[in-house]
This record gives sequence, structure tokens and C-alpha cells, in this order.
Amino acid sequence: MNSIAISFLKAKRAHYYVDKQSAVIFCCFKCGNKIKMTLDGEWDCSFCCESGNVITLDEIVEKLGNQPSSLLFNPRKERKQIRDTFDKLICKYPDDRQLKNLQQRTNQLIEFLFQEKDK
Ligand SMILES: [Zn+2]
Repeated sequence: MNSIAISFLKAKRAHYYVDKQSAVIFCCFKCGNKIKMTLDGEWDCSFCCESGNVITLDEIVEKLGNQPSSLLFNPRKERKQIRDTFDKLICKYPDDRQLKNLQQRTNQLIEFLFQEKDK
């Protein structure tokens, strides 16, 4: 079911990612709230109280006539971008100890937060 959901979201150019439970995370087409589509293809939005499946999503797009374009915050992608940015900065300023220290502390904090989230 997820592959159908992913194909649909790709076709609509909507941002999404797949979480550890293989659920598809994306923004509600109606209100932009972050929502989850489970493996059985069901989703519901706690913000605007819409719910349904891929067909329902398609109906919402048809009804509203809008293309979902809201950017979804993807924590794993964000973590990678932060790491890449630190790597670039450290390459540029190899003698900056404060920067290296900040990188270390940021990485520790990120790892801590990810572990807390997975508990
Ligand atoms: Zn919604």
C-alpha cells in the first residue's frame, strides 16, 4: 500500500518520508499539518479532522484544486544537512577550535534527541 501512497505523493510533487514503522509522513493536503499514512493506507489529520486513504487524498486535491507544496520538516535529512554544513565549515576553518567544539556538542545533542524520540 505504501508504494501506491508514495507514487501518488511523487505524482503530486508532495514532500514525504518513510519513518521507522514504514509509515509515510507527509503534510495534510487540506491544512498542511504533518500526518502519517499507515501501512494499510489509512491516514487522519488531527488538525482539520480529515481522514481517509489515497483515493480520499486525490478527492481533496480535486476539490481544492491545489497542488500540495508545503515543505515537510524531515529530521533525518535536516541532521545530514547540519553535519554536511559543519564538515564544510571545518574544512574552511580547520584551526577554529570553537567551531569543532560546537560541532561536537551539536552532534551529541542530535544523537541524544534521536535516542529520546525512539524510546
Ligand atoms: Zn489537515
